[in-house]
Amino acid sequence: MTVKIITYRPLQAGPALTVLGAVHGNERCGAEAVARLAADIDRDLVVLKRGILQLVPVANPRAYREGVRFVERNLNRHLYPKEQKRHYEDHLDPILCGLLDGTEVLLDLHSYTSQGGPFIFLGGNDARELAYARALGVPDFVCGWSEAFGGGDGSRESQGTTEYARSQGALAVTLECGHHHNADAAQIGYQAILRALWHLDMLDEGCLATLGLDVQASAGRQRGVRMKSVYRREQGASFARPWKHFDSVAKGEAMAMLAGGEILPAPENGFIVLPKDNAAAGEEWFYFGTATPLPG
Ligand SMILES: [Zn+2]
Repeated sequence: MTVKIITYRPLQAGPALTVLGAVHGNERCGAEAVARLAADIDRDLVVLKRGILQLVPVANPRAYREGVRFVERNLNRHLYPKEQKRHYEDHLDPILCGLLDGTEVLLDLHSYTSQGGPFIFLGGNDARELAYARALGVPDFVCGWSEAFGGGDGSRESQGTTEYARSQGALAVTLECGHHHNADAAQIGYQAILRALWHLDMLDEGCLATLGLDVQASAGRQRGVRMKSVYRREQGASFARPWKHFDSVAKGEAMAMLAGGEILPAPENGFIVLPKDNAAAGEEWFYFGTATPLPG
């Protein structure tokens, strides 16, 4: 299997942007969005004016072919080149890391299991990264993920594409384009790439009208939710309602029912984050977060 990497080099120098699809093989929207962008550049519908654009439609080709999240190891954890290669994904690390070493800006496109719309994981506190993230046209942001759940044990478990890219000095954003099978997920990813190009002044303005896309339009009100706690599923427990990602809950409102009939109330006014209907007992089931002003 080979990893397909497409590079576009307009003659004018400028920022290096890398866009990744299908880091998780069962998340198809990113691959579709990236492939569509490449096709649109090839037929001059999208015109680049400067910089370097690197596109990887499918970062994990075997997982993509098999329709699974990963083959032997989650490619978006423990991402760094390894001397001893024990898992299939270990062979992809140096390819992806090599690419990210040479990039200044990363857009990594994913989708998720819960019902819900697009959102962005905010990582660092870099004002330039925040401005870039806010320019992608997505209304919702999840903050504090790595602080709350990133291990903190000194291992590089939580190091995925964005963490690795940031460690090499890049601005990096993970965009979750919505539920895996949302009809608009690929379109959201495609628009986000165009918006990233526009934000970085890499897109020729002349092509915007033909595209029929208003990349400068505001995303409207943008809101942030800070992760507070994780709930693991207990045997026999069930949701109080069929939650969607980012549903709001009032303090004291039932979030879930435990097997004995005991109610699990919301600790304060907040939001249900990434609820997984099909989580097995002991697995991460959902997260609880509260509204937070976006930094910057
Ligand atoms: Zn993913």
